[in-house]
Amino acid sequence: MISKRILIVGGGMAGVRAAIGAARSLRSAGGQMELTIELISPSPWMVVRPRLYEADLAGVRVPLDPLLASIGVRLRRGHVAEIDARARTVRLAERAEPIHYNQLVLSAGSRLQHPWQELVHTVDTYSEALALHERIAELAARPGAQMSAVVVGGGFTGIEVAAELSGMLEQVAPGRQRGPITLIERAPSVAPEFGPHARALIERALRSLGVELRTGAAVREVREDGVVLADRASVDGELVVWASGPRASELTEQVAGARDPLGRLIVDCDLASQSEGVWAAGDSACARADRQHTALMSCQHALAQGAVAGANAVSLALGRRPQRYRQPLYLTCLDLGPAGALLTCGFERNRVLAHGAEAKHFKRYINRSLIYPPADAQAAAILALGRRARGRRSAARLSGLALRSGRVRAIVCDRAEDRAAQFAEIADQLLGREAAL
Ligand SMILES: Cc1cc2nc3c(=O)[nH]c(=O)nc-3n(C[C@H](O)[C@H](O)[C@H](O)COP(=O)(O)OP(=O)(O)OC[C@H]3O[C@@H](n4cnc5c(N)ncnc54)[C@H](O)[C@@H]3O)c2cc1C
Repeated sequence: MISKRILIVGGGMAGVRAAIGAARSLRSAGGQMELTIELISPSPWMVVRPRLYEADLAGVRVPLDPLLASIGVRLRRGHVAEIDARARTVRLAERAEPIHYNQLVLSAGSRLQHPWQELVHTVDTYSEALALHERIAELAARPGAQMSAVVVGGGFTGIEVAAELSGMLEQVAPGRQRGPITLIERAPSVAPEFGPHARALIERALRSLGVELRTGAAVREVREDGVVLADRASVDGELVVWASGPRASELTEQVAGARDPLGRLIVDCDLASQSEGVWAAGDSACARADRQHTALMSCQHALAQGAVAGANAVSLALGRRPQRYRQPLYLTCLDLGPAGALLTCGFERNRVLAHGAEAKHFKRYINRSLIYPPADAQAAAILALGRRARGRRSAARLSGLALRSGRVRAIVCDRAEDRAAQFAEIADQLLGREAAL
């Protein structure tokens, strides 16, 4: 028996799936080798980051220990400070002795970068999201507060925050007149990552919620009471939320190889980095989703990449061939707060599959169920996560879904009330197919 160690850095969306992928791969090898799988995380929780903009943060954190223990993965608490890929060791900030590994999966995610630490709120981490909620409660309790807000960054997160804030401010201070919520975007329009049709729907929804849009506007300075734009115009807001500028974990800089402008490690088609024994997944990785598209900093990509990277790390340790990562199907479901949601298909984000209340059902399903591991911590259910859907028959059972050439061609449902459930089933299929295990 040879003893080897697979280390997974980060217990987020990609890291947990890497642990599951690795455990599944090891089981399928039938105990040929003594191999330990360890996941290193500074916190005992997996944070479901896509939910951090929400008004209700209940259940946003999932305890890692029971989940990992049930599939034989060890949780090691710590913050990785150094990776020495030549020596195949990592060092934790909390202890001097290095930890040896045979294969490492780097899934340490990303963080927003901005120079306004003390002056702005963000929804990047759980504690930051909580701090935003506390600030809103504080404003609600102050009789003279205007309840005004500025959100900087009109991309996915900024839109979701601005839309949700409109509901949150109303909820905490019902009936009270609130000041403006202004969404500031440097590009000529908000939602620049979306196509024109989808963008028009987003703009309409935001306006219906009373969100003011300031586009083509760059922030020059943040103050206690709002922001100053490049043209020196000031925009008032008792609350400033920053939602722009994600950057991959700094740990990517410690691994040899090229990085993209977001700091993500550029990886091969099997998610191997240029440094032997190091794989990367999620927001720390820059991978090709298909021939034309690079995967995004998204949960959808992080989940599938994690599963592949974890499985490949074990495969290599066992002397097997790694598998390819491929994820040609791409759905975006953008929460628009009280105005519903918007579901698009394809990397151009212009094919609208649903919007309003119907898409909101689907968004809730994604945020409350689809991206969560099973609640009961049963090994069989956890190990089945992300397994490739079997054959065409199961896909064919989805009425209205036609998959051809890696694209969702059409979703046609007779009864409107069935559609949310069908989207949910489709998403399960899509994520299942993508994990390619
Ligand atoms: C508000 C918000 C809304 C979003 N909405 C969506 C959405 O609608 N759809 C979508 O697809 N995506 C969405 N995303 C993006 C999505 O959350 C990320 O792409 C996804 O979480 C990336 O997964 P990850 O595992 O790479 O990183 P994370 O989930 O961030 O996990 C990284 C983990 O690494 C740990 N870590 C960091 N540094 C170290 C270290 N040095 N040592 C050890 N551990 C470390 C962190 O503590 C964390 O647990 C949203 C993100 C936010 C913030």
